[in-house]
Amino acid sequence: MTQLDSELFDSHAHLSDDSLFSDAQGVLLRAREAGISKIVNVCTDGRSLQRGQEIRKFQPDLVFNAAAVPPHYCHESSEEDLKGIESAILAKEVVAIGETGLDYYYGKEHRTKQIKLLERYLALAAMTHLPVFFHVRGEGAFSELFSLVRYAPVKMLIHCFTGTTLEAKQALDLGIDLSFSGIVTFKKSEELRCVVKMAPLDRIHVETDSPYLAPQTKRGKTNEPSFLPEILRTIASQKEITPQECAKKTFENSCRFFSICD
Ligand SMILES: [Zn+2]
Repeated sequence: MTQLDSELFDSHAHLSDDSLFSDAQGVLLRAREAGISKIVNVCTDGRSLQRGQEIRKFQPDLVFNAAAVPPHYCHESSEEDLKGIESAILAKEVVAIGETGLDYYYGKEHRTKQIKLLERYLALAAMTHLPVFFHVRGEGAFSELFSLVRYAPVKMLIHCFTGTTLEAKQALDLGIDLSFSGIVTFKKSEELRCVVKMAPLDRIHVETDSPYLAPQTKRGKTNEPSFLPEILRTIASQKEITPQECAKKTFENSCRFFSICD
């Protein structure tokens, strides 16, 4: 059973990735069949943004683009990618700026570059009033991010949250929402499920982060937005509410955050 009889919002997917874009029509059809009625497509370079704009042309009520050069790609991105994305942001062709942030998973070699880019995106967000979402990973990344965004006058969210309970509390105190991916369904993710339990229901979002991180029962498969209900059910059981209620609340939260449902 995948159908939840309520509208679902996938707050983070990479539809422009080769593995999903090559079957975009099938992916979006299956998403609709699973009840997904909004998807934020996260673009990371000029090409993925162009693909995102193509997809959106076909399904403007379903697909909304966001864009940024992510921290883990910033050292290899071209001037063209940076400029193309920046002009789409300034022209408000996207509903949000992201994913940006800090990724120290493989070390801090590109730390200065990552920080500079993050600061640039925060300035663009303040200028355009677009919301921002973060990718945060690796030793020391959370505490550094928190000190950099502390006074940013923008709407913020941490996507695919995998931090500790303390880091979740610090984020929430700073007004940063949390989004949970299929990782929350993995057997080992006990602390993350405690974070879900602790976080206020009006501050959480649900995402697939497809094509990565397929939920537990789909592991090994290419993840796609139609796999969202499994993630939602796990979150609902942690919150001790029905999946329908959880769908409704998270849908409202994401609509409000991205300002896209009237
Ligand atoms: Zn992502």
